[in-house]
Amino acid sequence: MADGKDLSGFGADTRVVLAGRAPREQHGFVNTPVYHGSTVLFASAEDLAAHRGRYTYGRRASPTIDALTGAIASFEGGAGAVLVPSGLAAVTTGLLSCLSAGDHLLMVDSVYQPTRHFCDATLTRFGVETEYYPAGADLEPLFRENTRAVYTESPGSQTLEIQDIPAIVALAHARGAIVLADNTWATPLLFDAHGHGVDISIQAGTKYFSGHADVLIGSVSANAHAWPALRETHGNLGLTVGPDDIFLTLRGIRTLGVRLERHQRSSLAVADWLAERPEVARVLHPARADHPDHDLWKRDFKGASGLFSVVLNPVENQSVNAFLDALRLFGMGYSWGGFESLIVPFDAARARRFPSPEWPEGPALRIHVGLEDPADLIADLDQAFAKLT
Ligand SMILES: *Cc1c(COP(=O)(O)O)cnc(C)c1O
Repeated sequence: MADGKDLSGFGADTRVVLAGRAPREQHGFVNTPVYHGSTVLFASAEDLAAHRGRYTYGRRASPTIDALTGAIASFEGGAGAVLVPSGLAAVTTGLLSCLSAGDHLLMVDSVYQPTRHFCDATLTRFGVETEYYPAGADLEPLFRENTRAVYTESPGSQTLEIQDIPAIVALAHARGAIVLADNTWATPLLFDAHGHGVDISIQAGTKYFSGHADVLIGSVSANAHAWPALRETHGNLGLTVGPDDIFLTLRGIRTLGVRLERHQRSSLAVADWLAERPEVARVLHPARADHPDHDLWKRDFKGASGLFSVVLNPVENQSVNAFLDALRLFGMGYSWGGFESLIVPFDAARARRFPSPEWPEGPALRIHVGLEDPADLIADLDQAFAKLT
């Protein structure tokens, strides 16, 4: 029977089932067990001196770690992948692997806020200059002699702008710069980052990979060009992930394909219903034809996930709070990508350097549509809207 070693030719849903599994190496058990371990014993003094063996120390690798990195590498189609303890650690490890003192970094303005803070607070200390660009900007005039990397996040955090990744890659590679992408919204199943030329693909596995709101984990995948530096940096930083969290993530990815399909269908049903409401000024969902970057999304993505935003018509904050408090099925809290629906208000203009006329004029809400019945979610929003006016 096939195992996770050679998945070429199989479709995405077959790959999420097989990836990272090697039952014959685990006495026939379907799943790779949880190997708890720091010390790995060498077979002889000679092996010890030569550091010889498939495993040499628990921080570097174990069968449990290999199962998940193998699965992720096969989804991403890169040269290799590493695991880190959170999505933010995936962002910082990816950036640290390709930047040095004196470098210039082009960073998308609609980036996940803690990524922005890492650049401003930490990269600055190490002599890396970050310059923010609006998601749709022409990057050509922004490149400098020392521009070492371009960071993308598509769709953008909260405001969901889609970036023209192939165009950015062409510009960057012509100037010897590396392109990073935070691909958490789409996962490798819905956007093939390396296939579109991205060198370093970042995933907050906390979201859809694990899918159950019970794990913090991240992964970074690199193509052959960026892999040696990523592997070296990851090892030097001493990053590793506990095997129980890896096991939960492996369990999560087996259903990634079916979950994403349902997240897309339900999020579109809820988004379409919201778009007709008088309280709603605008729906920001890349899979809807009225999204400003819908054509780019259609060209490059294989589907949409469950996260989108809406902009309300101007209304008192107190009324928004009454609406939020009336919801029974949408929890209020950070993170997303789990089986459950979530909602949080946001003020996009506050975190941005380049306010745009496209951006929220009234209060805005970020919504994650989970795996509940969409009719129940819509009924819940409907009853809560009564509190908004
Ligand atoms: C949540 C998130 C992260 C950070 O993930 P954590 O596991 O919470 O550290 C990074 N990027 C994006 C786009 C995210 O949504």
